[in-house]
Amino acid sequence: QLSKRLKQVADYVEEGARVADIGSDHAYLPCYLADQGKINFAVAGEVVQGPFNNAVKEVRRTGLEDIVEVRLNDGLMVLKPEDRIDTVTIAGMGGALIRSILEKGRDNDRLTGEETLILQPNVFEETVRGYLMEQQYRITDEAILEENDKIYEIIKAVPSDTPVTYSKKDLLFGPYIGKERSETFKKKWTQQMNTNEFIVGQMEQSSHPNEEKLASLKEEIKLIKEMIE
Ligand code: SAM
Repeated sequence: QLSKRLKQVADYVEEGARVADIGSDHAYLPCYLADQGKINFAVAGEVVQGPFNNAVKEVRRTGLEDIVEVRLNDGLMVLKPEDRIDTVTIAGMGGALIRSILEKGRDNDRLTGEETLILQPNVFEETVRGYLMEQQYRITDEAILEENDKIYEIIKAVPSDTPVTYSKKDLLFGPYIGKERSETFKKKWTQQMNTNEFIVGQMEQSSHPNEEKLASLKEEIKLIKEMIE
C-alpha cells in the first residue's frame, strides 16, 4: 500500500511516462507506477547502499525488472541519454537537497530541460519554487496533505516557453495551494506562525539578536497572518 504522499506524486505522473525517481529508497513509487501499467520505464536512483539494496529487493519481489532499473549514484548522475527520461520525481528530502540535485543534473547535462518535475520537499518548499522560477519552470499543480501527523506539499512543474514570475507569497505558500487555503494549509501555517513567534520572542530577549533574521521572521509572520486570517 503506497503512502498517501507518494500516491499523490504518482497521480501527477502522466500515462506512458519515462520516470527517474531520485532517492527512491524502497522504489515503492516506480514499482507502484509500473505495476499499475502507468509508465513505460523507470530508473530508481539511490546514492546510499542500504536503500539501493532495498530498491533492488522490491523490484525483484514485484517482478518488475523489465520496467524498473535500480542504479547507484549521486542524484541525476544515474541517468544516461538513452534512458529518454521525461519525468523526474524527487520525494522525501529537504528543499535545499532537491535543488542541489537538480542543479548538479543540469550542470552535468543529465537533464535536457524538457522534463516534467514532480517534487515533494519535506521542508523549504520556497527554495524549490525559487529554483523552478529561476529555471523558468511553470508550476502546473500542487497539493498539500497530512499523513501521520506530518504535512506534505507536492509540486508539479513543466518547462515554460513564456516568462514565469512568482511573487514572494507564491514562492512561500504556493501559487495553487496558497489560493485554495485548505484546512491542512491553515494548520501548517498556523503552526509555522507559532514557531516563528516563539523564536522572535526568544530573539528579542537576547542582547544581540540577529536583526536580519528577526526582520525576516517578522515579515513572514505578517505574510502568514494575511494568508490565514
Ligand atoms: N523517495 C522516497 C520517499 O519519498 O518515500 C524515499 C525518501 S528517503 C527519506 C530519502 C532518500 O534519498 C534516502 O534513501 C537517501 O539515501 C536518498 N538520497 C539522499 N541524497 C541523495 C542523492 N544525492 N542522490 C540519490 N539519492 C539520495
